[in-house]
Amino acid sequence: MSIQVFGMPVSRGVAIGRAVLVASSRVDVAHYFVPAERLEHEVARLREARDAVAAELTALKRDLPGDAPAELSALLDVHLMLLHDEALTGATKVWIHERHYNAEWALSAQLEVLARQFDDMEDAYLRERKADVEQVAERLLRYLGRSEPGAAEVLAPAAGGARDFAGEDPLVLVANDVAPADMIQFKRSVFTGFVTDVGGKTSHTAIVARSMDIPAVVGAREASRLIRQDDWLVIDGDAGVVIVNPSPIVLEEYRFRQRQSELERARLNRLRHTPAVTLDGQAVELLANIELPADAAGALEAGAVGVGLFRSEFLFMNRDGDLPDEEEQFEAYRSAVLAMQGLPVTIRTVDIGADKPLDRMSPTELRHEHALNPALGLRAIRWSLSEPGMFRQQLRAILRASAFGKVRILVPMVAHLGEIRATLEAVARARQQLDDAGRPYGRVEVGAMIEVPAAALMIDRFLAHFDYVSIGTNDLIQYTLAIDRADDAVSHLFDPWHPAVLRLIADTIARANACGRGVSVCGEMAGDAAFTDLLLAMGLRSFSMHPARIASIKQRVLRADTRKLAATLEAVMQADDPARESGRLHQGAQPA
Ligand code: PEP
Ligand code: MG
Repeated sequence: MSIQVFGMPVSRGVAIGRAVLVASSRVDVAHYFVPAERLEHEVARLREARDAVAAELTALKRDLPGDAPAELSALLDVHLMLLHDEALTGATKVWIHERHYNAEWALSAQLEVLARQFDDMEDAYLRERKADVEQVAERLLRYLGRSEPGAAEVLAPAAGGARDFAGEDPLVLVANDVAPADMIQFKRSVFTGFVTDVGGKTSHTAIVARSMDIPAVVGAREASRLIRQDDWLVIDGDAGVVIVNPSPIVLEEYRFRQRQSELERARLNRLRHTPAVTLDGQAVELLANIELPADAAGALEAGAVGVGLFRSEFLFMNRDGDLPDEEEQFEAYRSAVLAMQGLPVTIRTVDIGADKPLDRMSPTELRHEHALNPALGLRAIRWSLSEPGMFRQQLRAILRASAFGKVRILVPMVAHLGEIRATLEAVARARQQLDDAGRPYGRVEVGAMIEVPAAALMIDRFLAHFDYVSIGTNDLIQYTLAIDRADDAVSHLFDPWHPAVLRLIADTIARANACGRGVSVCGEMAGDAAFTDLLLAMGLRSFSMHPARIASIKQRVLRADTRKLAATLEAVMQADDPARESGRLHQGAQPA
C-alpha cells in the first residue's frame, strides 16, 4: 500500500529509488558497490574481520581478572556466539553476493534488519539483546574500517560507476538523522536522494544536501519507522513529501516531472557563461559556496565568478582530535585557489560548534550529550579565539595560499568589538610570522560575517575595521528570531521574510554600499530565487550560493530592472506580510 510521509523540502527535485535504511550512527560507513570479480575478496574481508574479532573476544575473556564478575565472562560468550550466528555474518554474506554491497554496508544493512526484529519482540530480555548484536557489529565495523582503508576510492563509488553492477536500481538513504560531516561522505556515495526524521531547513545537513544538488526531505518525523528496507520511494524535494511504494500512475507522473526538470536544468545550463547583468546594466557577482576544495571544480563549471564562502570547518570534522596542521590546510586551500584559476576564493575560518561538532555526532545526539544550547556556545570565532595557536595556524595556511591566487579571509559570528580586535591582531601576528620565516603571501582582504543581530546593528563599527562584510542569513535569522535552525520542532518559525530580518539585511547592505565597502549575502537566501529581486532592490550586487543554484539566480538577475525594484522596496519593508507584497515587486520588475 502506498503511503505519504511529510517533512520539509530542503533540496529540490525528484528522486526515485529503493530505500536503504541506515542507523544514524552508521551513516558514515562506506557505501559502494563491489564488482563481481571482487565479491569473494569482500566476503574474505568479512571472514577475516569475524576471525579477528573472535580472537579479540577470546583474549579478553582469557585475560579477565580473577575477581571479575561472572556476568562479564558470560557476556563475552554471548558476543562470541552472536559473532558466529548465521543471522549476522551468514546473512551479511547474502547482501554482498546478491546486492554487491561492500562488507561494511552489507553488515549495517543486516544489522538494520535484526534491529527491527529485536524491536518487535515481546520479551523484554530478548529485546535488550539488540544492544549486544550492535556491540558485536561495531567491533566488526571497526576492524573492517582498518582492514582496507580507502577501498571506497579504489572502487569508484560514484553513482555512474556503481550502476554497472547487477543492474542496480537507484538508491535513496533513509535515516533518523545525519551529521553534517557524514553528509560529506555522500558526495562520494551511491545515493540519489535522502530522507531524515529530524532536521531543519537550514541545518548544515540540509545545506550539504543542497550543495550536492540531490533531492532531500528532512524532519519527516516517522520516516525511518514507516519505511522498510527496499521500499520504492519517491522523494519530492520541492513539496517535502516522500511517497512510499507509489502506484504506477503516481510513479509515472513523477518520472515525467523528473524528465521535465532535467530539461529545465539543461536549458538553464546554457546561461553558464552569460555575464549576470540586469536589464538596466547592473553587473551582479554570482559566487559559489563550497565545503571541500574538490567542490571548486563544480563551482567553476557552474559559472561562478569566484568562491564567496569556503566552509573550512569540514576539513576539521571527524578527525578524532587529529586536526589538520598548517601544511595540510595550506595544501587544501591552495588546491581550491588553483582550481578557481585566478578567481577569488573567500575562505571562512573554522565555524565549528552548534550543529557542526568536531567529532562525529548527529545534531540529535549533540543535543542529548550537551544539555546546554550549543548554538549559543563556544562556536565559530569564539572557538578560534579560545585556541589561539590553532587559529594562527589556520590564518598562516590561508595567507600562504594567497601566493597562488586571490584569497580573502572571512570571520564567522563576530559580535564583539573585542573579538574584532583579537581577530585582526591574530591576522597581523600570522603575517609577521610568515615574514619572519620568509614565506610569501599576497594581499588578503579580511571580512566579517554579519550573522548576529549585534553585528548588524553595529554595522558602522564593523565596516570601520573590515575590508568587506558577508551576510550569513541562516544564522542571522536563527539569532534574530531565537529559532534553532536545526530543530524541526520550531522550523515553521524560521522565517526569512520576518520584517526584523529584512530590516537588518537592508540596513547592512545600505551602510556597506554607502561607505564603499563590499557586501555579499552567503546564506541560503542568496540561492533562493524568491529573494533575488528583493535583495537586488536593497542594493545587493554580490550573491554567494551552492553552485547548483547559480543558473536559476542568474536567470532572475537577467530579467530584473533594479530601478523599478528599488521604487517598490519600501512597500515590502513596511508590509505586514512582506512575502505577499514582494510578489508585486517582482511583477514590477518584469519587462513590458
Ligand atoms: C549563514 O549563517 O548564513 C552562513 C552562510 O553560514 P553557515 O550556514 O555555515 O552557518
Ligand atoms: Mg553561519
